[in-house]
Amino acid sequence: METPYAPGSLVVLIGSPGAGKSTYARRHFPTGRLCLDDFREMATDEAADQSATPTAAQIQNLLLDARLARGLTTVVDSTNVLPHVRAGLLARARYYQRPAVAVLFELPLADCLARNNARARQVPQNVVRELHQMTPTAEQLAAEGFASIRTIGLCEPARR
Ligand code: GDP
Ligand code: MG
Repeated sequence: METPYAPGSLVVLIGSPGAGKSTYARRHFPTGRLCLDDFREMATDEAADQSATPTAAQIQNLLLDARLARGLTTVVDSTNVLPHVRAGLLARARYYQRPAVAVLFELPLADCLARNNARARQVPQNVVRELHQMTPTAEQLAAEGFASIRTIGLCEPARR
């Protein structure tokens, strides 16, 4: 499937739960989607079990190293709203000399909450609110060093 990203890119999805990140990633990246939810589920049978986040992050980093070293396009499908998490991803992309591109999901909180409510696995509402509030702007992402930033909003549905 054609993707709008240069081969070998590290594609970092950024946005609150319910923003449509996993839907977008599955649509645009038939392979190379690294998702902390999946790794937590493998470790504990429970995707939301935050006690497994360090384990999940270790698995993610192992796979990131394996893929980036080979020049394979890789998408990080988690919220990535924390600056230090993005800094770690940017450092890995730099180390392997791969372009780091950000896909910023800028949906209103009400839409994230509605989509979260409508799906099978729901994140607690207060967590959605908190993470939504922490979502950076495109300007912040540019200042952090992302080579390019693509913004997804309601006008450009993530399904497309
Ligand atoms: P994530 O938490 O950011 O990974 O969000 P998901 O990709 O899991 O999407 C959350 C919910 O919104 C799911 O039920 C999706 O089917 C739905 N969804 C995702 N993208 C779209 C979209 O573009 N339009 C609409 N209406 N629903 C969407
Ligand atoms: Mg998801």
